[in-house]
Amino acid sequence: MRDFVYNAHPARVIFGSGSLGQVGDEAQRLGMERVLVLSTPEQKRSAEQVAELLGKFCADVFPGATMHTPVAVTEEAMELVASKKVDGVVAVGGGSTVGLGKAIALRSDLPQIVIPTTYAGSEVTPIIGETKDGLKTTQTTPKVLPEVVIYDVDLTLGLPTGLSVTSGINAVAHAVEALYAKDGNPIIDMMAEEGVRAIVRSLPAIVQDPGNREARSDAQYGAWLCGTCLGSVGMSLHHKLCHTLGGTFNLPHAETHTVVLPHALQYNAPAAPRAIDALARVFEERDPARALYDLAGALGAPRALRDLGMPEAGIDQATDLALANAYWNPRPLAREAVRACIAAAWAGEPPQ
Ligand code: NAD
Repeated sequence: MRDFVYNAHPARVIFGSGSLGQVGDEAQRLGMERVLVLSTPEQKRSAEQVAELLGKFCADVFPGATMHTPVAVTEEAMELVASKKVDGVVAVGGGSTVGLGKAIALRSDLPQIVIPTTYAGSEVTPIIGETKDGLKTTQTTPKVLPEVVIYDVDLTLGLPTGLSVTSGINAVAHAVEALYAKDGNPIIDMMAEEGVRAIVRSLPAIVQDPGNREARSDAQYGAWLCGTCLGSVGMSLHHKLCHTLGGTFNLPHAETHTVVLPHALQYNAPAAPRAIDALARVFEERDPARALYDLAGALGAPRALRDLGMPEAGIDQATDLALANAYWNPRPLAREAVRACIAAAWAGEPPQ
């Protein structure tokens, strides 16, 4: 018998090829008449496409989103919100652009439509991380939860193969940690197992043919499920390590998740039998940590933190930081074992 509490976040999800075409109707449904469209500089073309679809209801395009949601960029966007009397935002892009939309919603309570183009999953979480003076702080508040998510597979066809793989494994990490979360529950477990299965089966097909719509759609479906897991239950060692490593050594987000996940899972495996059973079903009874390490290798993804630019001297620093603030983890944090986990990830060794 398993007692649990289940909290669901409201989400209107529109899923399918060509669903971007519904952005105008969705904006109208939310009563938006002066929309600010957000993107990174690299995805400005997608933002302009959204602006065209919104027609007279688009107030402006802000293609200035950047990694780690710097407060200075948000303040620049907020000036546009005020000067153009913006009454809603549409974010088109990955976690960085979604983060800017959330940062605007945090300050203004404006409604958001999000059109994700990676597998990071931020669009279905009430979590926001922001950076000021080099320090990243994270908070959880329903204020930042987008009102509508439009998953249009067509926008993911151009996601470079390397980022597709690491972003997909970033999604898997949310589900893995949800499977052993302290506040886990059977509903999230179902989503987590199904989410990992969808991503793991789709990534090899995407690497073989990045234009494979079926596989891309499967990956997006998995990313949604895994993102929902991240937004619903608490995360543990893996996310703490990635947050610490990313912030301290300025490592890339999705790649860091890809390298660390097999090691963090191996660390927690002895204390997480139900998670291991669920993952073993996905990986056809193979050791899940080893299977994830092999998957990354087979798909050409990075497997060593040193290849991402982390110095060897950082292993001890990262260990200290990971142990500094007490937080819940299924297996108690023992210094030598955590250090060994980080050292193996640094060197790119198989999980031990
Ligand atoms: P990203 O948003 O930084 O995108 C990386 C690059 O890929 C950008 O240049 C972007 O424009 C480009 N790109 C995105 N989609 C593309 C596409 N389909 N085709 C071509 N180029 C494309 O990367 P990410 O991994 O999605 O997001 C990482 C950020 O999101 C981190 O800051 C992380 O902390 C945050 N995040 C937050 C949450 C949350 O719940 N708050 C969850 C996951 C990630």
